[in-house]
Amino acid sequence: MAIVWPCPLPVDAYVAAGRKVEVPRPVCPSCAGPLVFWSGYWRHVRWQERERKIFIPRVRCCGCGVTHALLPAFVLARRLDAAESAGLVIGQVAAGAYGVRPAAAAAGVPHTTARGWVRRFAARAGDLAVSFSALAVELGGEVVRLFPDPLRSAVTAIGAAFTAAAGLPGWAALGRWRFACAVTGGSLLAANASSPFLIIGERRFMPPRSR
Ligand SMILES: [Zn+2]
Repeated sequence: MAIVWPCPLPVDAYVAAGRKVEVPRPVCPSCAGPLVFWSGYWRHVRWQERERKIFIPRVRCCGCGVTHALLPAFVLARRLDAAESAGLVIGQVAAGAYGVRPAAAAAGVPHTTARGWVRRFAARAGDLAVSFSALAVELGGEVVRLFPDPLRSAVTAIGAAFTAAAGLPGWAALGRWRFACAVTGGSLLAANASSPFLIIGERRFMPPRSR
């Protein structure tokens, strides 16, 4: 199981830290028991047209024995590209500013990759719009007025929830796409994701630490 932590570091700073990257230690999402660091693994992330290798620490629960990978909020589960790249493309297409092809070119990703993101996001857009609207209200934000176009509604709702979250300590530095990635447990573009609303209801995301 993966836990996404609200990493505010630029991708390159995270890459440069290697195994020494400093990650906050959450409590176990299954049983709320204490977690200890438990090795980790390397994976790739593509950012600004280049693939980099990043270290993903693992933690193991002292209570239930389950291990969890601690993903920084700029990676999406089982996706090579950084969350911001996907978000940039989705946001531009949803706003009607660009078609998928020019948006992909602007983000420096293959057209087929960008098309896959938009299709996956669109397939879940109704669900995401409802979930993020509810989260915006839960966080004390404005009620979101939804559009007939689910894609646009979902992006608007994510923006509203992020605006509400940005008033709380630590979230503003993340930007809305890392925020969206964090609160959906990295599953923003996953095929068989559970509803983000459930994840939010169970508080399966780690809030940033207040300073
Ligand atoms: Zn546990």
